[in-house]
Amino acid sequence: MLSVDEALTRLLDGVGRTDGETVALAEAVGRVLVDPEVVASADVPPFANSAMDGFAVRSTDGAADRRIVGESRAGGLPPPEVTDGTAVRIMTGAPMPPGADSVMPVEDAVEAGESISAATEPRAGTHVRPAGLDFVAGQRIRLEQGPLTPSAIGLLAALGRGEVQVRRRPRVAILSTGDELRDVGAQLAPGQIYDANAPALAGAVRDAGGQPLVAARAPDDPQVIEERIRGAIEGADLLIASGGVSVGDHDHVRTVIEQLGTLDFWRIAVQPGKPLAFGRIGDVPIIGLPGNPVSALVTFELFVRPMIRAMLGLAGDGRLRVDARVDEEIAKDPGRRAYLRVRLDSSDDGFRARSAGGQGSSQLMPLALANALLVVPEGPSVTQPGARYEAIVLGSSS
Ligand code: AMP
Ligand code: MG
Repeated sequence: MLSVDEALTRLLDGVGRTDGETVALAEAVGRVLVDPEVVASADVPPFANSAMDGFAVRSTDGAADRRIVGESRAGGLPPPEVTDGTAVRIMTGAPMPPGADSVMPVEDAVEAGESISAATEPRAGTHVRPAGLDFVAGQRIRLEQGPLTPSAIGLLAALGRGEVQVRRRPRVAILSTGDELRDVGAQLAPGQIYDANAPALAGAVRDAGGQPLVAARAPDDPQVIEERIRGAIEGADLLIASGGVSVGDHDHVRTVIEQLGTLDFWRIAVQPGKPLAFGRIGDVPIIGLPGNPVSALVTFELFVRPMIRAMLGLAGDGRLRVDARVDEEIAKDPGRRAYLRVRLDSSDDGFRARSAGGQGSSQLMPLALANALLVVPEGPSVTQPGARYEAIVLGSSS
């Protein structure tokens, strides 16, 4: 059996990046810039403006009264000049009038007819946002390498970018296998269950930055599985199958991969998820995930998510890792590294992890309730109360 780290290294080896495509900025949230470095083409803000509603004044007038000679509004006509002993009424974001060097907030000015008196003496530069405060023309701005956030989109808009070059979403074909599976909503006959993996994995693909392409499900019939796999890899960057990778009499996915291409490995020392097949058909990587929904989703998290991100030019899984204390014994297989489904809460003593429920690989409820995976190394058969373990914080990231 391969270790988790070894398996991941092999999976990521030789993964290519997808091409770039141009998208409208408004559509770019969650997408990944081909080049995270942006050069400001102009000063932002482009002109000196007021940070407050108030009066643009000359600080050299000190505490003297001033006569109001006009107004400066955001988006309005150019304001009149401020000369000695005068003030211009100004709104937040409005251009500073020539001659003014300070803004007296409304709260600090006492208005009497057409003039104001100052409650405090204004100082030069107060409440003035100079041109280029955020960026100056020509400045290189390196955005964090990750899916574009709403704030990064705002920043790009402030820089005048209407379109951005992003990586094409990796196309990930999804194939469920199993005679017992039916589409959600169908009437179940005895012995049948709903296909939970296809919709769950499609969500996980989207969340990782990929584009899911759900193929028609295959029964446990090697010929149909072969047909479906052949069809699904057309135009796909990656294929993930689920079910049929174990050693049961009706597990055919592995054999079909071997027939159509090459099988690299198929067992990983991980819990949940020991049977996991990885190979290639032509140049399309194919991963056969275990059928149990928790195993499928956890192994997706550990192996497929980093692969999709690598295709986007992103390193790692993009998850936050924290240390968490456990106060209970949670059983695990000593031969495998376990990723236990836990609820993470903050306490006076840092993070605490509690089991989110049964740790069986078919039990979706605890996974749905969990907000982290607790990593317990190979060796022990149970967590040690009071000990700290690494926790991978889950959560939607696109
Ligand atoms: P397998 O890996 O095919 O041996 O399946 C292991 C377990 O996972 C069995 O209990 C299957 O019924 C279940 N299973 C497989 N595929 C799915 C799926 N798409 N949705 C829900 N359960 C599944
Ligand atoms: Mg099966």
